[in-house]
Amino acid sequence: MIYASKAFLCTAMAKLVHDEGLLLDVATGGELFVALHAGVPADHCVLHGNNKSVDELRMAMTAGVRHIVVDSFDELARIESLVDEGLTAPRVQLRITPGVYVHTHEYISTGQDDSKFGFNLGNGDARRAAGIAGASKKMRFVGIHCHIGSNVFAVENFTHAARLMVDLANELGVEEVTFGGGLGVAYVGDERAPSITDWSRHLLDAASGLQKPTKVFVEPGRSIVASAAVTVYRVGTIKEIPGVRTYVSVDGGMSDNPRPVLYGSGYEAFVPTRTNSARTKPVRVVGKHCESGDILISETEVPADLVVGDLLVTPVTGAYGHSMGSNYNKVTRPPVVFVRSGGARLVVRRETFEDLVRADVAE
Ligand SMILES: *Cc1c(COP(=O)(O)O)cnc(C)c1O
Repeated sequence: MIYASKAFLCTAMAKLVHDEGLLLDVATGGELFVALHAGVPADHCVLHGNNKSVDELRMAMTAGVRHIVVDSFDELARIESLVDEGLTAPRVQLRITPGVYVHTHEYISTGQDDSKFGFNLGNGDARRAAGIAGASKKMRFVGIHCHIGSNVFAVENFTHAARLMVDLANELGVEEVTFGGGLGVAYVGDERAPSITDWSRHLLDAASGLQKPTKVFVEPGRSIVASAAVTVYRVGTIKEIPGVRTYVSVDGGMSDNPRPVLYGSGYEAFVPTRTNSARTKPVRVVGKHCESGDILISETEVPADLVVGDLLVTPVTGAYGHSMGSNYNKVTRPPVVFVRSGGARLVVRRETFEDLVRADVAE
């Protein structure tokens, strides 16, 4: 199993993932840097990305990543020229776009024909790329890869793609297949998502069609970390607009969780000091940024006795929150704390104002 590090990555997370025996999927030089900085051996890292620069490829090949998931014809040529420079021929998997449409937000759907990712299976690009990679002495073509999208709930979408991949793997005779990540998680009360166990069982079922001994990988991100975290805010203002709605403003917002703005994602909210209070008061939870779009939860209910100064928690914020965060409005990023068996450990400190000018070049 490979952990897709873009869901949430810091030094402690990379260490934890490695200690748990997973490989790390890194999609940029920066993600690779953090993994190596954490002491993860390069051959436990897998390099992804639809536009890997020459520098990123050089960094990954020099470090010796386990394999590179090649995404384009340009990249095949880039790898060959790096080998000409004297670097070792890397193991490669090819990212295949299987032409599978999934039920999720358009921005995180990646397996359809109209995609910036991978080699298209339907139009012949995938087989053409396999021909080039297979014939090249400057790479070892070991496998194929697909990733059809993120926050996908329908197991049929995954098995559909997996069957297409199994057929292609049999045709090409490769020794490794990666079925990607993308398993959805329940964010709000009425959502139900398949468990990782259910999902794996279906994928293993599809993999039983593989004709020769094959290493099968999956690379989930969200389903590993999303529900492992909550975000704790403090309520700063409560504004009741009669006949309209009540706005609850907290001390964060789109800078620590841009998902509601990007995808219209929903969340729940509760008061950690009164977890059992009935949530009866309809409100909109917003951040402190200078735009009306800075919404954390468009419509939710909170306890009727919520007052300024209360803590307010949004659960299921472990994936694509901190990792997509920004310093918009020069709001400093919050700290990250790992908790386990009643103990707490700071793994990312709270940013200071000094951090905000760290890269500025003073005149
Ligand atoms: C984002 C991504 C994943 C992980 O997706 P999740 O939805 O977080 O499980 C896996 N593989 C690739 C190539 C990705 O881009």
